[in-house]
Amino acid sequence: MSDQRHIVIFDTTLRDGEQSPGASMNLREKIEIAEALAELGVDVMEAGFPIASEGDFEAVREIANTVRGTTICGLARCNDHDIDRAWEALQGAASPRIHVFLATSAIHREFKLKMSRAEIVQRAVDGVRRAVGYCDNIEFSPEDAVRTEQDFLCEVVEAAIAAGATTVNIPDTVGYATPAHMGQTIAMVKNRVPNIDQAVISIHCHNDLGLAVANSLSAVEAGAGQIECTINGIGERAGNCSLEEVVMALRTRNDYYQCDTEINARRLVPTSRLVSSVTGMQVQRNKAIVGRNAFAHEAGIHQDGMLKERTTYEIMRPEDVGFAKTDLVLGKHSGRAALADRARTLGFRLTAEQLQRVFFDFKELADKKKEIYDGDVVALIEQQLHGTADEHWKLVTYEILSRHDGQPRVRMTLRNGGGDATLEVTEGDGPIDAAFVAIEQITGLSLVCKDYQVRSATIGRDAQGEASMEIEHEGRSYRGVGVSTDTIEATLKALLGAVNRIVDEQHAA
Ligand SMILES: [Zn+2]
Repeated sequence: MSDQRHIVIFDTTLRDGEQSPGASMNLREKIEIAEALAELGVDVMEAGFPIASEGDFEAVREIANTVRGTTICGLARCNDHDIDRAWEALQGAASPRIHVFLATSAIHREFKLKMSRAEIVQRAVDGVRRAVGYCDNIEFSPEDAVRTEQDFLCEVVEAAIAAGATTVNIPDTVGYATPAHMGQTIAMVKNRVPNIDQAVISIHCHNDLGLAVANSLSAVEAGAGQIECTINGIGERAGNCSLEEVVMALRTRNDYYQCDTEINARRLVPTSRLVSSVTGMQVQRNKAIVGRNAFAHEAGIHQDGMLKERTTYEIMRPEDVGFAKTDLVLGKHSGRAALADRARTLGFRLTAEQLQRVFFDFKELADKKKEIYDGDVVALIEQQLHGTADEHWKLVTYEILSRHDGQPRVRMTLRNGGGDATLEVTEGDGPIDAAFVAIEQITGLSLVCKDYQVRSATIGRDAQGEASMEIEHEGRSYRGVGVSTDTIEATLKALLGAVNRIVDEQHAA
């Protein structure tokens, strides 16, 4: 039993993942994800980059102060100011870690930092020492390690460990490595750095060539003891190593790797769903482990085999990664406790206040629709999560006319504070465009539609329509989600959700 090697799962959904274009999250959303990650059992969560912005700082501090049962990590460049700020955010954590990084590859040294090799080593040592003055759990990352000359990489890693780093990360920052190459790099570090036994070797892979998971597994095989990854593989460009895939690869092929993790795999699907809903980045249907089709057997010959003996075509059971066995149906007479229980199973942790609001919407929906499926519950919750604390602009009433070969017409009343504003427009290429014009004129905001999607939340003609809208305003993106059994209404709610986020930010500024 004890010959199993424990692999540290370092989640960076809230830091590297949040850098995905369009995936930015507010404080409330970050805390919600942090709690879900703790429940999932990640050993370390990188909560953000405190120096990057006031919002990042606040998020790391709040998570450090409130989330327990896991190590909370904050990122810092290798300078005093960054490291001090990171510690300021992290000091309330029961188990804090400071993660210091400095680029080491020739390209970065020459063009970005304009520093010599000796200066880089000195800067790394100074940074790690400063961090060690605050806490004893320090990670050091030589950025772009995979493209760094091997001798120099070993020199920097050795110096960082001697200065007190307890984890040394080997990041493939640009997604350039291939599996065998990655394995060799880790083996080289393990064999050539004399004090390597005093630190855990970590791996951080990007998916530019679609190899992040394969590279991470290869690194583990060569001796890495920590994997940096994100839920659904989100992150810069093509993303990071996907947590659910790498964890299930280690688990399913335990016979080969002989490694285990602390991850509670039954929370994988709920956590994936939560991250997808918060970031608006849908999981593709055929995504391994958490995609909708990941366990769907279509071919007749496979189905036949499955019925006789499921292991003929199945290497994992859907329930082991958290797919619900049945799509439980709720109805008019289901109480708040049943709804709360369902929400939790689906991956959401609602505050009493949020639950109350979702329950109100649920009752309203139950009057229109007899059977309420999981998809409906998710849609209602998403709408709550993406609503803003203050609804600056609220939809009072609307009338929309769409006709073949004619101008659309929109008449809309919005409420802002106490006052109502009504407007009628007869321009635009169709009813949605006309609604944009009306909302722009009433609110005085200029809105560019970057993405608009409508999908049915469940099966059936009476299914709720779930609209998701990404709006650009003054160069920044804002997301809104709306649900209704009427798709036009869902669209207007999504549009106003995004508008309210713009106003929120204007008030905060
Ligand atoms: Zn990265």
